[in-house]
Amino acid sequence: MFRMVAAATCRHDPRRRALLRGRVRAEPALRPPWALEEPAFVDACIGCQACVEACPEAVLSPGAGQLPVFDPARGECTFCARCVDACRDSAFRPATERPWTLQAHIADRCLTHARIVCASCRDACGEAAIRFPVTSAVPVPVVAADRCTGCGACVAGCPAGAITLQSTPLEALADV
Ligand code: SF4
Ligand code: SF4
Ligand code: SF4
Repeated sequence: MFRMVAAATCRHDPRRRALLRGRVRAEPALRPPWALEEPAFVDACIGCQACVEACPEAVLSPGAGQLPVFDPARGECTFCARCVDACRDSAFRPATERPWTLQAHIADRCLTHARIVCASCRDACGEAAIRFPVTSAVPVPVVAADRCTGCGACVAGCPAGAITLQSTPLEALADV
């Protein structure tokens, strides 16, 4: 029943779609892994929450228009693909493909820039993607593009809120 109501209010209401697209342009949402490109995802997803409910890590939640968003503040995506399997509306690509182009980016508010020793992000990263080259008395973290999966495990643990996940151009990823 809920799926039918959601479909009726979301998929077939052009004004609602336009509003959603406008919001997406202003502040891109982090979608679940393997989600279609944003315009196609907005068209395909009916906001049924099947992927949200299927996620064992509880890192997905309903965003604008009830469309699912990935929130790394909640934890780490393990790329289990249960969200993909749960979707009955073709809003995802095959889980055999690259899940997304997200990678961690560290802003200048990182404590090390204020000469405060910290390595919480390195400790949280299971991919050993954050390194601290010894170039100064207080080493500054660097994300290795060839290792970062965009899982988000480093985000919540940063005491400075310095880490965000951002899309890396595919051309750049092809080189790593
Ligand atoms: S791949 Fe798994 S952990 Fe990641 S968002 Fe989907 S269900 Fe959650
Ligand atoms: S956890 Fe945050 S503040 Fe600490 S080193 Fe990493 S990015 Fe910097
Ligand atoms: S997003 Fe995941 S893989 Fe990338 S640096 Fe953070 S913890 Fe490591």
